This record gives sequence, C-alpha cells and structure tokens, in this order.
Amino acid sequence: MNHIQQVFLQSIMKQQQQEKQQQVKQEENGQKQNIQYLQKQQLLSIIQQCQQQQQPIQQASKSPTLIEIQNQVTSFFQKIILQKQTINLNNVLDQQLPYFLQIMGNLVIYGLENCPGEKEIVQEIISQYKSNPLKITMSCSLFQTIGLLFRSQLVYYDQSTKYLANFLLFRDDFCDIFFNTLYCYQITHGQSFSQQMGFTQIHQMIKKTQEDVWTAFIFKMLSQQQQKMTKDMFLLQFNQYTVSMNNFFTKSNLIMDLVEQSVKQTSKLHNDQIFQEYLLIMGSFKATTQDFLKKATQVFFEESNDLDLLQFSSNIIKIHKQMNCQILFILPMLFQLESQYLDHLVSNGIQDQQPVKNSSNYYLKMIEKLKNKCVYNGEEECNCKKCQCIRRNRNSAKESQKKKREALEKIGPLQDEYDKIQKKVKSLEKENQVITKLLLDVFRHPSLEKLASQFIEPLTKILADQESYNIDEC
Ligand SMILES: [Zn+2]
Repeated sequence: MNHIQQVFLQSIMKQQQQEKQQQVKQEENGQKQNIQYLQKQQLLSIIQQCQQQQQPIQQASKSPTLIEIQNQVTSFFQKIILQKQTINLNNVLDQQLPYFLQIMGNLVIYGLENCPGEKEIVQEIISQYKSNPLKITMSCSLFQTIGLLFRSQLVYYDQSTKYLANFLLFRDDFCDIFFNTLYCYQITHGQSFSQQMGFTQIHQMIKKTQEDVWTAFIFKMLSQQQQKMTKDMFLLQFNQYTVSMNNFFTKSNLIMDLVEQSVKQTSKLHNDQIFQEYLLIMGSFKATTQDFLKKATQVFFEESNDLDLLQFSSNIIKIHKQMNCQILFILPMLFQLESQYLDHLVSNGIQDQQPVKNSSNYYLKMIEKLKNKCVYNGEEECNCKKCQCIRRNRNSAKESQKKKREALEKIGPLQDEYDKIQKKVKSLEKENQVITKLLLDVFRHPSLEKLASQFIEPLTKILADQESYNIDEC
C-alpha cells in the first residue's frame, strides 16, 4: 500500500468507527427507532394499498406476483411488531433443517397463512413450501422484517427460540451483508425483477456441500456482486469486512454470551469444542488480518488489475495454505458454528444456568484477552492505545537489545584473553598428568618401594586437588 492509500483507508476506518459508535448509540434506543421506522413503513404500505384499491379492475384481472404476496406478509409481520404480539409457531415442515432455517420456514408459512386476499395462489405456494422448504425465497424487506421479529423476541417455538435474537443472520449489522451477498434476481410473471434470497443459498452456506460455496460467497461480498473485483474495491471492502468482524468480536454475540454464562467445569465436551473453535477463529482473525492483507494485495493483483471468481478462487487456496489459516472465511465459519451451536442447544436441552462470572472460565479469559488485541498489532497505520503501547514496548526492547550488543562488543577483547588463559591451563594440566604418571611409575620400582610410603600421601593429595580443580572448572 502506498501512502495515499493508507491515508485513504485510515480516514475510511475512522469514519466507519464513528458510524459504528453512532450505531451503538442508536441501538440503545433501537426498539423506539425500529417502531418509528416501521410506522413510516406501515404508512407507506397503507398508501400503497390505497393506490391499489383505486385500480380494482386492473388488479382483479391479474393474479398477484410473488413479490406482491411477500409484501403483504411483510406488512402483516410489521403490524405484529408494532402491536408487540407474540407469534407461536408449530412445526408444519416435513423436512429436517438446521434449527434457525426450520423456525424461519415455519414463520414464512405462518405469514402466508395469514395473508389476506387471493387464497388459491397463496395455498399453492404454502403447500409447495411445506413439502420442500428449500424453495422458500424472501425479498429484502421480508427478510429484514423477519430479522426484526427475531431480534424483538416476538417469535416462540421452543425454549431455544430466544437465542435467534442474537444469531448472525438476523443481526442488525449483518443481515444486510448476508442479503446483499446471497440474493439472486427472480423474474415474476415475465415482467418484474426482484432480488430474492433463497433458503437453498442459506442452507448451502451451512452444509457446505460444495467446496467453493464459501469462496463464491466471499467473492460476491468483496466484489459487491460484480463479475470482476478491482484492487481498490478489494481494499475498500476488505477493510469494511475487518471493521464488521472486529465489531462482532467486541460486542456481544451468540456464542460469546453463552461462554460468559457457562462455567468451564460444567460445560459439556461439545460446548468446549465450539468454544475452542470460536477462540481459534477469533485468534486467527486478530493475528493474521494484516499479514493477509499485504500478501493478498500482492498475490491477487500480481498479473492483472482485476480478478474474476476463478482467479480469486485459485489464489485464495494458495494464500490460505501459505498462511495456514482461513482468514477470508471467518464470516461463513462463524455462521456455520453458530448454527451448529443452536442445533446442539436444541438437541441437548439448555440448562438454564445462573449467569456466573467465573474466574476459572478459561475461554472467557482468553476471549477477553483477544478482545483487547488490535488487528494492526502495533503497526504504524494504527494509532489506538494498544498499538502505541506495542510500539513503545518494541522500541524499548530494541533499546535493551542495543545495550546488550554494545556490552558484548566491550567484552570481546577480554574474551580473547580468557581463551588464551584457558589454553594455557589445559596444557599445564596435561603436563601435570604426565609428571604424576612418571612419579607413580618411579615409586613402583623395587629399589624405591620402601620410600614410597613417605611420598605416596602427599602425592595422593596432589592428585585429589587436581581432581577437585577439574570439577570446579566444569
Ligand atoms: Zn491498533
């Protein structure tokens, strides 16, 4: 990255942070604002309905399109949110789906069943959806409204339903990312186009039956559903991705909240695996984001200025292998993990534990530690407190390294002298050994044997001294 790009990105990051901060504030009054927003929406839809009623002849001759039916379901759900009613769901689906999809499918059908007007067509759609829920598709406003229903905890199926309020797909800050990446265009009645997100696409993200599902998802996300991805686009979108993910790890989320509530000793093994995986994903996000960005910018745009899906796919495999991590797949991985966790909670039942802040909760400790880690890891680009601190530490470490080196340089000549002395000592020792041997041989001579008793004692002492001297040296 050159300097201008850096400055550019920094200003974007700052702006995004400010926006996020504002968003957090907004979320605090979220309920109020949502209702205000919905009141406006409802007003709009009422106006639309009025307009439709003014053209009864045209409307009667034409059966409603899918999008028109979806709009009716949407406004039905919006009324429920405004009136704060609770929807009690029963399972009407034959197929077994991941928990969140199961509930969402039942909710869509519930909406359709309460849809006014053209019963025949709606019934047809309902029976189609019941036998194959993967055929369900949603318009943007229908999906957003469903997300809001879950966030407001107005849907009840079983005791696990409340956890959907914090599920990635329904979160205020992620639902648009998912929709904008997963939608396809659908033509209804050969005339009007509409953007639809299908259960099939969502289901594939969880099941990952094809290896390239996540690659395609990330490519669509980073290229904003364009055929090609330019370098500028990549830098911009990747940064946005980093900001969103950072926000995800910092604020409360489904797994994090349950980690906080569970005590390590009592959490089952499977929970441990999920927490471990969460920790791994979070850790690799915090540790490798910047390295990845540098490497990816080089590798992606080595040969040309833009990438198509195929080039992107082969490059991404290469980089992930080289870096031994899957940094780009963090969002799909978390999506899958949260879904697995929900399924686990449903099948194992939830022990409603008292929220315990246990100091022995290893995962919580690790997560808290990681939370405080900045993805920039002390690089010059970032001016946050953590990075400043890391830079200070690095500088002081460098300083002490420098001092050590200088001290070693001064020691140099002394070392030479020491080595010389050491050599001298060694040669003296050898001489000593030779003399000792000689002396002992001499005293073994028959003519000197009688004298030996006088000399043997001092000689033994000399030998002993020499041995102890050798031990000291070691
Ligand atoms: Zn930083």
